[in-house]
Amino acid sequence: MRPLANANPESLADAVERLERGGGRAAAIGGGSDLLGMIKDDLASPDVLVSLRALAASDGLDAIVPGPAELRVGGLVTLARLSAHPEVASRYRVLAEAAGSAATPQIRNVATLAGNLCQRPWCWYFRQNFPCYKHGGNRCFSRTGENQFNAIFGGAPSYIVHPSDAAPALVALDARFRLVGPGGERVVPAGAFFTLPRVDVTRENVLEPNEILADVTVPAAPGLRSTYAKVLDREAWTHAVVSVALALQLEDDRVRRAGVVLGGVAPVPWRVAAVEDLLAGRAVTESLAAEAGRLAVDGARPLPKNRYKVPLVENLVRRTLLSLAGSGQDPRQELAP
Ligand SMILES: Cc1cc2nc3c(=O)[nH]c(=O)nc-3n(C[C@H](O)[C@H](O)[C@H](O)COP(=O)(O)OP(=O)(O)OC[C@H]3O[C@@H](n4cnc5c(N)ncnc54)[C@H](O)[C@@H]3O)c2cc1C
Repeated sequence: MRPLANANPESLADAVERLERGGGRAAAIGGGSDLLGMIKDDLASPDVLVSLRALAASDGLDAIVPGPAELRVGGLVTLARLSAHPEVASRYRVLAEAAGSAATPQIRNVATLAGNLCQRPWCWYFRQNFPCYKHGGNRCFSRTGENQFNAIFGGAPSYIVHPSDAAPALVALDARFRLVGPGGERVVPAGAFFTLPRVDVTRENVLEPNEILADVTVPAAPGLRSTYAKVLDREAWTHAVVSVALALQLEDDRVRRAGVVLGGVAPVPWRVAAVEDLLAGRAVTESLAAEAGRLAVDGARPLPKNRYKVPLVENLVRRTLLSLAGSGQDPRQELAP
């Protein structure tokens, strides 16, 4: 491994300044569970690591602050703390479940929420350093190669899937992300933070150079019932083959507002607005859930080896809806591909 300098900033502003001073050769680091592996595998080569954990307590970056109007979660909060927080678990279950489903207990103890949202793709070809679009090349090897785990929506020209479990949950909850950079700060909706490869194939989000994801705010939603269901290709501790984040605001058993976002199927958390519209104003029944499942996969363009994802998503959406509405079975059972 190459020698690296470590910088311990004293404030968020100081961290931004140190990133800027690095002139493109400095990287922000949270828990390091992704970035250090990337460096070891020669997939990233910063000279300076700006350790955000050094300033966790300052700027409220490691705080979880539930309030009547919103929940604020600092970017440095670990996935383990987020998933175990009683108020997050009771009021925003989808977020607690998503955070608690990611990776392994050891990784969740160090992995930060911001790092989870900003982690790089886990496409086999990218991680093996193939000269793909993400590495500045001019092709996506998964398109015709081993594409079992790649995108069925929004893929071209790169068919990665977004790896974060927390991301679909936050998009379903209409969260907002606060980004702090050299030009000051800005707030972007979670759904607008992630970008498709057709917009810029080299990156997965709208973070500008030297910008830091400081915290996440989730609006309160009366009558919210939510859950995260994830299908794995083995028993535990890996990325989603497919997942769904569901957030339903219910009023007298009718859906007032629905957030329906898929994971493991696209280069971004994949919001299915058509399903959200279908559910609005209606009570969840077997037939409505079946229709929602079918609509969730409308327009899917599977690759030769990942066609199985289409029925998997359809059934996961149907079962999770029924389960959340209180009339169905546990959506996580009997769904392995
Ligand atoms: C075996 C294994 C299984 C895994 N399974 C899953 C899974 O099932 N689900 C899942 O979601 N993830 C999974 N992961 C990924 C894991 O969750 C991430 O490695 C972790 O969440 C990253 O958080 P971190 O704080 O360690 O990030 P780091 O490694 O510190 O950083 C990751 C990236 O984010 C950037 N970054 C970090 N913090 C900030 C910030 N505040 N602002 C801007 N940029 C920032 C870094 O520069 C870097 O590019 C798995 C990883 C492994 C090794």
